[in-house]
Amino acid sequence: MIFDLHVHTTFSDGLLSPEEMVKLAYKKNIDGIAITDHDTILGIEPAIKYGKEIGNISIIPGIEFSCIYKDEEVHILGYFIDYTSQVLIDITNNLRKNRIARIFKMLEKINKLGMELTFDEVKAYSKAGYMGRPHVARALVDKGYVDSIHEAFEKYISRGKPGYVERNSLKIEEAINLIHNTNGIAVLAHPGLLKDKKIIDYCINLGIDGIEVIHSKHKKEDVNFLIDICKRSNLIITGGSDCHGKLKSGDYLLGNYYVNIDHIPIMKGRL
Ligand code: AMP
Ligand code: ZN
Ligand code: FE
Ligand code: FE
Repeated sequence: MIFDLHVHTTFSDGLLSPEEMVKLAYKKNIDGIAITDHDTILGIEPAIKYGKEIGNISIIPGIEFSCIYKDEEVHILGYFIDYTSQVLIDITNNLRKNRIARIFKMLEKINKLGMELTFDEVKAYSKAGYMGRPHVARALVDKGYVDSIHEAFEKYISRGKPGYVERNSLKIEEAINLIHNTNGIAVLAHPGLLKDKKIIDYCINLGIDGIEVIHSKHKKEDVNFLIDICKRSNLIITGGSDCHGKLKSGDYLLGNYYVNIDHIPIMKGRL
C-alpha cells in the first residue's frame, strides 16, 4: 500500500486545502497520505472527513513540528497522534499565537527597510490563522518588492537577513515527548537537509522512532546514508513528498515520493 507520509495544506503553508489534497491523492491512485502541517493539527479532521466521503483512501493524522536547535531548523514529524488531545491543542494554539506575534515583529523590520507591507496584506495569504515566512514572501512578491519567493528569503527573511525574526518553537525533546505522550510515532524529517549531521544521533538518543529517508529534496547519497543509520539503530524508514501544493511542470509532487506501508508494521497496524 503506497503512502505519501509528508503533505502540507492551507492550514499551514500549503496551497491546497485538505479536501483538494485528498482528492488529488485519490486521483493519483495513492492508497493513503499523512497530513503533516507545520505546528498545527487543524487540517487533519477535514482531510479525514473528506477521505471517508470519497472512500478507498486512508488519512493518517500527523504533524510536522518546526524545532530550532543550535541555529538550525530541525523538523520532527508525528504520526497517528491523538489530535483530540487537549495538551496538543493547547500547545499548537500557543505556537500559532507566537507565530502571529513574530510576523508583527518581522513587519516592523521590513517596514524600517523601506517596504510598505501590512499585517492584513500578509494575512491574506493565510487561510487558517497560521502564519509563516512563506506568507510574508508571497506578499513581498505580490507587492513587487522582490521577483520571487526565493529572492524574498535570500534578501530579507532567511536567518541572518535583515527582516528575520526567530520563531518561538518547541525543543526537539519537547516535540518528541509530546508526540509520544499523544500516542504518536516520532520521525526525524528530511535529515538530508541538516547542515550538522550530528543532530541525527542527538535525535536517536532522545528516542526518535524513525527517519524520513525518502524525501523530494534527498539525493541518492542521502538515502543510502540514512538507510544505514536506520538499520544500525533499528529505526523505521519513512518517506514522503513534502508537497506544498505547488505545480511543477504540470504535476504536483504528491505521491512522487512514498513508502509501502506494508513494510512498516508499527504503522500498518495503526491504520
Ligand atoms: P517559518 O516556519 O515561518 O520560519 O518558515 C519556514 C518555512 O519557510 C519552511 O518550512 C520552508 O517551507 C520555507 N522556506 C525556508 N527557507 C526557504 C527558502 N530559502 N526559499 C523558499 N522557502 C523557504
Ligand atoms: Zn512548509
Ligand atoms: Fe520540513
Ligand atoms: Fe514539510
